[in-house]
Amino acid sequence: MSNQPEAPEKGKDFVRQIIDKDLETGKYGDRVQTRFPPEPNGYLHIGHAKSICLNFGIAEDYNGRCNLRFDDTNPVKEDTEYVDSIKEDVHWLGFDWKENEFFASDYFERFYAVAELFIRAGKAYVDDLSAEEIREYRGTLKEPGKNSPYRDRTPEENLELFRKMRDGDFGDGERVLRAKIDMAAPNVVLRDPTLYRIKHADHHRTGDAWCIYPMYDFAHCLSDYFEGITHSICTLEFENNRPLYDWVLDALIECIGSGACGDDTTAVTGGGATPQERPYQYEFARLNISGTVLSKRKLIQLVQEGHVDGWDDPRMPTISGFRRRGYTPESIRDFCDRIGVAKADSMVDFALLEHCVRQDLNERAPRYLGVLHPVKLIIENYPEDQEDVFEMPLHPEDESVGTRKVPFCRELYIERADFMEDAPKKFFRMSVGREVRLRFAYYVTCTGFEKDAEGNITEIRATYDPATKGGWSDDGRKVKGTMHWVSARHAAKAEVRLYDRLFTEENPGNPGGDKTFLDCINPDSKEVRTECWVEPALADMQPGTHFQFERTGYFIADAKDHKPGDKLVFNRTATLRDSWAKIAKKG
Ligand code: ATP
Ligand code: MG
Repeated sequence: MSNQPEAPEKGKDFVRQIIDKDLETGKYGDRVQTRFPPEPNGYLHIGHAKSICLNFGIAEDYNGRCNLRFDDTNPVKEDTEYVDSIKEDVHWLGFDWKENEFFASDYFERFYAVAELFIRAGKAYVDDLSAEEIREYRGTLKEPGKNSPYRDRTPEENLELFRKMRDGDFGDGERVLRAKIDMAAPNVVLRDPTLYRIKHADHHRTGDAWCIYPMYDFAHCLSDYFEGITHSICTLEFENNRPLYDWVLDALIECIGSGACGDDTTAVTGGGATPQERPYQYEFARLNISGTVLSKRKLIQLVQEGHVDGWDDPRMPTISGFRRRGYTPESIRDFCDRIGVAKADSMVDFALLEHCVRQDLNERAPRYLGVLHPVKLIIENYPEDQEDVFEMPLHPEDESVGTRKVPFCRELYIERADFMEDAPKKFFRMSVGREVRLRFAYYVTCTGFEKDAEGNITEIRATYDPATKGGWSDDGRKVKGTMHWVSARHAAKAEVRLYDRLFTEENPGNPGGDKTFLDCINPDSKEVRTECWVEPALADMQPGTHFQFERTGYFIADAKDHKPGDKLVFNRTATLRDSWAKIAKKG
């Protein structure tokens, strides 16, 4: 694994190159059909976004289609909550499967029919060995496996037993249906893999209709075939399973060819393609990102054990977490474009993802003033009953975004960090005797401050220069520092949630030693500041609005807790400091 993300690919990725070739030879006519096949056993994460962008992106590029197929063949861990969240996330990313929404569970009857075909053709058998015995018989990478004593049952006997399996005559794990391939195959996957197992469990869509469920390697390729998929794109860990993918489809096509399905083959092929137009599997490198985990099992653990506030916690690497954090779909798609599609695993720096969201928000997020760690600033020579209203641009580079009105009065809030008692020379912010610019307002000169008994600064005092209205002067005066502020009289109170990395390690999934990923959780990943003051224009902001607090970072009005005109809650999406630019320069 290399540490550097790959340079943006020039030209086409290897999957698109394969598709180009297939179009040239007319392998599928002019059809290009992909699918995104999530198992509804958790929320989607940023790794899934890579697969979504690839599969739906190909469909867009080639005027083809991409199915959304729920790979729901394992009843125990799946749930409709996950189905709904997956649909929401794919739509949010900007992709549309139109009417092409499928569930592998809708094919249960057809999978079963194929299994019976295989039994009749002597390609599958019912095995009575226990799971443990099957493991022992399988052999190792160095040693071949042994045939099960049940391997030579007749098709009639197998058919009868398989039907009993379906009828619920056996308990979980008492029997399995296995493909009859080769117990000495160098590839362990081909040593008579299990096709069906018994599981007396209710399924979220089929209820108690079934007590046998097909295995991934059997169901996935058949689903692809039924739907007329041309290019079945998956991640590298399925490379060893590809020969099995091919075996199942070749076996089925052989059955069809031998007339075993009768004249009408559409019950098996789905009628979308000729039997010969079978899909092929291609593997690409999964996405790994530094500083986080992208394993559903671990993400589920974070949620269920309460280490985070649910699947859409803004610190989670889930799509819903990024959405709530304030990432835009455009920034995630841009990220997926930049990392490219390759055949070798790599680790992508989280900073690249942050860079993408900063770039996007820099272009379109309106600017506002907000003080997160407030201290009062009193303008001594500004009359108590006076007010100014400054019209400030919402975007420094784009006039078309418009302006907003920001009131000014004698008492303001500024950031604590913008004042220093004993300031070094290069501190260009506020300190007694120094002059600074209040953004778009006036030049002010600090005259003094007050402290409480503990030594905390409670109030800063200054005088303003009325001739610098609007925040500038052409008399040649040098004022280096510009600070943001809000009017204490007009400001709205807000809760601001400052998020940081969820993990302290670069590779929390594999931290080494006795540590687990839970030991790597960053205890300071969430800071909630309830006493923030923001300019009044933000009071009516709608949930889900992106914006920038000048000098501070990009934020979003929280989708769940922010109530316009009532309770203001803002999540920090990213700070303004871009660490990616530095990393990229170092190369
Ligand atoms: P598991 O199978 O362990 O539950 P999974 O992450 O593979 O987890 P799926 O729902 O099966 O989850 O994934 C749906 C699709 O997304 C698959 O085609 C899978 O290859 C792809 N995918 C999953 N994780 C990543 C990743 N990190 N990078 C790229 N693609 C991924
Ligand atoms: Mg999977």
